[in-house]
Formats: sequence, structure tokens, C-alpha cells
Amino acid sequence: MIALPPSFLHQLEGINGFDKQAFIDAHQQHAVTSIRLHPVKKSTAFIGDEHVPWCKEGRYLKSRPVFTLDPLYHAGAYYVQEASSMFLQHVLEQILPTKENLRVLDLCAAPGGKSTLIASLLNKSSLLISNEVIRSRASVLEENMTRWGYMNTWVTSNDPAAFSRLEGYFDIVVVDAPCSGSGLFRKDKKALEEWSEGNVQLCSQRQQRILADVWPALKEDGMLVYATCSYSPQEDEHIMDWLAETFDVESISLHVPEKWGIVRTQSNINTINGYRFFPDKVKGEGFYIAAIRKKEVTSQVKYPKLKPAKMNMQKAMGDLFKTEGVCFVDAGDDQYAVIYKQHEADMYLLKDTLYIRKAGVHAGMPTTKDWLYAHDIALSIDAGDELPSVDVDKEQALRFLKKEEMRVPDMKMGWNIVKYNGLGIGWIKNIGNRINNYLPKQWRIRMEITDADWK
Ligand code: SAM
Repeated sequence: MIALPPSFLHQLEGINGFDKQAFIDAHQQHAVTSIRLHPVKKSTAFIGDEHVPWCKEGRYLKSRPVFTLDPLYHAGAYYVQEASSMFLQHVLEQILPTKENLRVLDLCAAPGGKSTLIASLLNKSSLLISNEVIRSRASVLEENMTRWGYMNTWVTSNDPAAFSRLEGYFDIVVVDAPCSGSGLFRKDKKALEEWSEGNVQLCSQRQQRILADVWPALKEDGMLVYATCSYSPQEDEHIMDWLAETFDVESISLHVPEKWGIVRTQSNINTINGYRFFPDKVKGEGFYIAAIRKKEVTSQVKYPKLKPAKMNMQKAMGDLFKTEGVCFVDAGDDQYAVIYKQHEADMYLLKDTLYIRKAGVHAGMPTTKDWLYAHDIALSIDAGDELPSVDVDKEQALRFLKKEEMRVPDMKMGWNIVKYNGLGIGWIKNIGNRINNYLPKQWRIRMEITDADWK
């Protein structure tokens, strides 16, 4: 039985849609499990499961499987995401002026739920910067974005203050702010234990700091999407009021079908529209989201002059990727990465200002007589169709993912992408008497696998 702190319930009294008893009762139920399917990496995963109403690829699962033991999870066929937060899709579909040539920032991006969703919505001429300030979390973000496989999603790791130097660069900024986490009480016991009025206050101050830091980077008429998984008005409507009092903004009203059970809210002072999810009204956890337009005159950072690319690797590139209009860039440590050519100038601009953990898809490095393929290629949606590959069953896929010895009959010699249900999960090299496994060590499955799990 979950006992909600009385001071927490007191904070919620009077907010639109709050039904105390129904809310308490909903907290005695289990959290809902949901996933979002990859729109390009089609698979058999979760066919027939119930749809999340506000997100085309969202699915509710009847029970929670052990995702680690599903090779399709490792292939990026789906992302495990809380259903309410998939509402970002509905928001973006209404506010994006176009899907082409946008510059989008996901400022607080780890572990990658919102970023993988945004990547799925943009056309490849657009660029998504997926940022996470905390280093350990940024590496999880990088792994999840690599699995999702989009070339136009780059991962950076910077404090929000670093973005203030990119004046007027972004068309859309998403701030999924660190918060007191009350919306996740059903999923996360720690959030419940650590909740306090003092922490709500601290979060509220931090949210203002983050927004003030990133505000200059948003274009005039650009859109800010602000979200939290907290019910507290101090972290939601009050932040919107603070923003409206500090900057010149326009509130956006969204079309939201009433039958979805999402509660429309307005901030007290400046009537900024927001949308709140209560677990007694929706099939999902607690969430708040608002979209506003920046109305201030904002100048735009200038792109530096492009230095002509010196690397001529057309041959390797032709084999590796099926997409036209890409180019190699230096990814450090003798590695090369591939980005869309139209984002080359962005690369020069951003690397002067930000710490870019990863731009584009890592492609690997040349060796004296070979090409050392990067893991990313196996997961990229742009990987060349002609690349050698081998299909494996679940047991062999799990052995590969555990970096255990695997047996694959009739495999071609040399490099092969390991495919499960037609989706790449990594590289192996058949050298005759042995198979070398190129799955990065830090990606391997560490949990014990019982006899029943292999099938
Ligand atoms: N958007 C993510 C998703 O959908 O998977 C969840 C983001 S989580 C709510 C908030 C993130 O903000 C965390 O990853 C946290 O590390 C990061 N964060 C913490 N302090 C921060 C700060 N001062 N500035 C920016 N981000 C911060």
C-alpha cells in the first residue's frame, strides 16, 4: 500500500481535475507498462497490443517482460517509455511548423525517451541535439540513441548555460526538466521516500535557472515545450507564470480529445495553457506539459565558413550506407563518423561551443587491409542493404549479446551483421576457426540467463 505524504496531497488541493480519493486509490494500483515501436525498424514485437491513444506507435503491455532478454529490444525495435510522456508526439504534431530543416534541442535528454520520439518525427534534413549534463547519464543516452539509429540525432553533454552562446539557433527547445518526481510514485519508491516540500522548492528554482540559461538559444517565434513528471504547481504552472513574467511569450492551446482524460490547466497569473495527466483519469503516470512561443526579437548566431572536407572515402561510404548526401567527419580516436552533408556547417558551429559526444553514425576506421566496422552501423537505419549479414535465432542472439561463444552454421567468412528478425544487433567476424564478437563490452548483457530464457 502506498501512503502519500499529507503535505503532498495538500499541495494538490484545488488544482484543476484533482480528485483526492480517486487519486489515492489509483496509487494502490500497479504502474502501467508501455513501449513505443520504432517507425522504421519493423518487427513482430507487440503486434496486437492495445494502442496508446495519443501516440501512433505507443502500446500498452499486459505484463512487464524482462526486456533485457529480448534481442528486439537490443535491436532498437522499440523503446520502453511511460505512456503519458508519449503525449509529446501529439504536442509536436500540432506545433511543428514543418518537419524539414528544423534545429531541435532536447536539453535534459537522458535516458532518451523524448529524444527517440522526436527523432522518429523529424525528416532527415532536420537536426536533433540530444543533450544531457550528467556524464554517466549521457553515456546511457548515447547508447539508446545509437540503438534508435538516426544519423541526424547528435548527443552532447553540456550544462544548459553553454547553450546561451547559440543565440537564436533552435526552432524548438524541449525541456523535460529534472523535478521532484511525484508523477512516478507508482513506479519509483525512491521518488516517494525523497519527496519533500523543500525539494519541490529546490526543483522549482533549478527549473527557472535551466529555462533562463537556454532561452537565448531559442529563435524568435520558436517553440519551447516544457514538461515535468511532477504534479506540484510550483514546478508546473508557477514556472509558466515566471516565464511569462520574465520573457515575452505566447501561450499555445492544443486540440486534445476529451475522451483521453487529460486535464487542461491554466496558470493563475498569465493563463498559460498546460496539460496534466492524473493516473485516475488516464492509463499512464503523472505528467505535465505546456508549449509556448517565444515572441522576443532574437538575433541569430552566424555559421562559420565551411572548411572543405579533406577525407575522400567515397568507396567505403558507398558500401556502408544506403543514404545519399552523407559525408565522413573525424570522430576522434582514429574513428570516422558519417553525417548528412547538409549538417556539416552545424558541426563546425556546434563544436566551437559544445562538447559533442557523438555526431551522426560512427562508421569505424580503416586498417591496413580492411575496414574496422563500428557497432553503430549495425543499428543504423541508413546501413547499406548490401552489407554482409547472418540471421540468427533467439538463443544465438542472446549468446552474441552476452559475448558468449556462439555457433552459426553456414556463415560467410569475414564480417557479418548479426540479425535477429531481420534487425541488426551488432557485428561478428568469421575467421574460420573462430568467430570474433565485436559487441562493445559495455553493451553486453550481464544478467544470468536460465535454460527457459534462451528460447
Ligand atoms: N527527457 C528524458 C526522457 O524522456 O528520457 C528524461 C529527463 S529527466 C526528467 C531530467 C534530466 O535532467 C535527467 O537526465 C537529469 O540528469 C537532467 N538534469 C539534472 N540536473 C540538471 C540541470 N541542472 N540542468 C540540466 N539537466 C539536468
